[in-house]
Amino acid sequence: MAGASGEYERLSGEDRFEVAANVAEDGWPNGANVVFLSNYNAFADALAATPLAYKMNAPILLTRPASLGDTTKNKLRELSPSKVVIIGGTASVSNNVVNEVRSLGISMVERISGNDRFEVSAAIAKRMPSSSKAVVANGLTFPDALAIAPYASRNGMPILLTRDNELPAPTISSLQTRHPSQIIVMGGTASVSNGVYADLLRYGPIRIGGGDRFEVAANIIKQLNLPTSTGFLATGQTFADALTGSVLAAKKNAPILLTRNSSLPDATKEITGQKGMTDFVVLGGTASVSNNVVKAVAGPLAGKLIVVDPGHGDHDPGASDNAVIEKEVNLDVSTRLKSKLDANGAYTIMTRESDTYPTLSERAEFANKQGADAFISVHTNAFPDNPDVSGTETYWDDTYSAAESKELATYINKELVDKLDTRDRGVKNVGFKVIRESTMPSVLVELAFLTNEEDAAKLRSDYYREQAANGITNGVLTFFR
Ligand SMILES: [Zn+2]
Repeated sequence: MAGASGEYERLSGEDRFEVAANVAEDGWPNGANVVFLSNYNAFADALAATPLAYKMNAPILLTRPASLGDTTKNKLRELSPSKVVIIGGTASVSNNVVNEVRSLGISMVERISGNDRFEVSAAIAKRMPSSSKAVVANGLTFPDALAIAPYASRNGMPILLTRDNELPAPTISSLQTRHPSQIIVMGGTASVSNGVYADLLRYGPIRIGGGDRFEVAANIIKQLNLPTSTGFLATGQTFADALTGSVLAAKKNAPILLTRNSSLPDATKEITGQKGMTDFVVLGGTASVSNNVVKAVAGPLAGKLIVVDPGHGDHDPGASDNAVIEKEVNLDVSTRLKSKLDANGAYTIMTRESDTYPTLSERAEFANKQGADAFISVHTNAFPDNPDVSGTETYWDDTYSAAESKELATYINKELVDKLDTRDRGVKNVGFKVIRESTMPSVLVELAFLTNEEDAAKLRSDYYREQAANGITNGVLTFFR
């Protein structure tokens, strides 16, 4: 069956200046009437800029404090704006930069500044139209404010900044002027304390929290039920790409997901999986968002929900012999399998993640309820009567999705035999309860015989357990290709 594998576009660049220029190229191919200019290295002033930039349909470019640099200068020439809005004071963006901008023939240069980031955010809010809603986010870290920026932009909500445990005077005064009837408070209590939250009670606050920045970004999508046909993926470790990408994300009505540079956080995986997201815009080069991270959201199994079922558990150890206990091998191989499927873009859920025992019907029902695209039950074989019996076999059942189940079993068994170097016992149509009651393509694999010494040695080894997971993954990949 044809899999809707993921698609992505990477807006890359040698450095953050180039990434910003490429974002502008993508979002404003025919030029822009207004361009925002912000310091490349300090997020303080620019944190609240996105909603205003969106309102003015302006891309955000970056500059060094003392000079524009070639990348930004060239992009400004191309965009050919009639106005440049500089965010921050002369320490962030010097008057020399203003002169450089003017020398490009751009006569209107406006500076939005203040004594600190809180004043800047209030000054930006002043230029936003009145709105019944506003965002309050911590101004000393960047992830929460940037993750909410596309939503705030599209809803005309200013982003006002706060200290974790004290509302700054400019923010208090801005709130008093605007009188919002609802406020989104970004982050957990470490970002915005309960005390600050209490001070905001008159404005109808709702908090979007989370254990870390990745979870907060994911919870924005969850709590506000944002559209997810496209997601923007940016590093949550530095601010620049998320900042310059945020206006484009707003234009495309796409949420911003945050990631570590080289590994996809669980919370990000979970939200993309739960929402079945397959299309992404990746902000920054591979040093910011590695190819492995991209593969884990937009890989060949993107949009596929796979349930892996480690056979047996708890009071039911399954078979055991030759120092192999079936329930343990099943769980270990299943855990490795989950991480490999996930690395290829799937969203994988296990029927058990530790030594517990869901009933057979519960396992099948779980997969049915989740709406899984495939179900794989992992087992280890035994034939105590004859220790010479060995090899790999895979079962399918013809109650539901018969042809697809058989096809999946065939691919998986072939790959398993290849990777484990075991005897090929083939695929068999047998109505084991877990695959009989699962409605999606479902298979039950018997990796090898723990009653056979040679097979058992493999089942004890890390190398072959890894190979087993590789084999099943390859079979799944072939099936969905
Ligand atoms: Zn078993």
